[in-house]
Amino acid sequence: MTFPLQYTATALAAGAGLLLWIVEGAMPFFRDRSSRGRHAVLNLGLAATNLLIILPIDLVTVLILGNMKPVIPSLSSLVPGGLTRTLAILLLLDLWMYLWHRLNHETPLLWRFHSVHHSDPQLDVTSAWRFHPGEIALSGVLRLPVLLLIGAGPEELVLYNLLMTPVIEFHHSNVRLPEATDRLLRTLLPTPLMHRIHHSILRNEHDSNYGALLSVWDRLFGTLHLAGVEPSKPLGLNGESGFERQRLGALLSKPFSH
Ligand SMILES: [Zn+2]
Ligand SMILES: [Zn+2]
Repeated sequence: MTFPLQYTATALAAGAGLLLWIVEGAMPFFRDRSSRGRHAVLNLGLAATNLLIILPIDLVTVLILGNMKPVIPSLSSLVPGGLTRTLAILLLLDLWMYLWHRLNHETPLLWRFHSVHHSDPQLDVTSAWRFHPGEIALSGVLRLPVLLLIGAGPEELVLYNLLMTPVIEFHHSNVRLPEATDRLLRTLLPTPLMHRIHHSILRNEHDSNYGALLSVWDRLFGTLHLAGVEPSKPLGLNGESGFERQRLGALLSKPFSH
């Protein structure tokens, strides 16, 4: 079941990404985007580098999850089987993603890598793929003990990625949504408005709205921030988002140059 589900997840992520790219071109929130192509090439270049890291990590993760017998009862074994257990696993996985993202902001070493994502001066759907390979490797390796603790199998992991990836692409997109639509959607999902605040140049604003698939964790843990973002307000990081820094080599060496 994992491989057909994996193909579906990949096709859905690619299809949603392409659709959002077209829609944000037609109805953008930030209008001064003259270099969309160059921006996309840089972010997708970084994503291509990350594929070399994430593919072997994913392969080993799936092999271990599919073959290892748990030595202690997992968290999800405490709930009944079937759909209830699947939902519990998806919720716990999303809670881990929230905590991991927050750790990336609160730990100086992790922030060195995660700041590459935040140094993007032009948020759009391709920013969903802009991560330093160091962050991807750490995230992939540290996820394994969490998956074992939760009791997630390969199917649940792929199912979670199938749901999460289009949502991450959506909240990074530069699509202009009516405020009422964004308000309705953010009762469940992190929205473009929420994630633009997360990419604000101001630290008190970018240390908020950490959710990946669900917005519930930010409400629950008091990290929801809903101040307005105007189309003229700068995004990125002070002194780190200049034009001369928007190169693959500069982004790859950034965590080691502080
Ligand atoms: Zn962040
Ligand atoms: Zn982001």
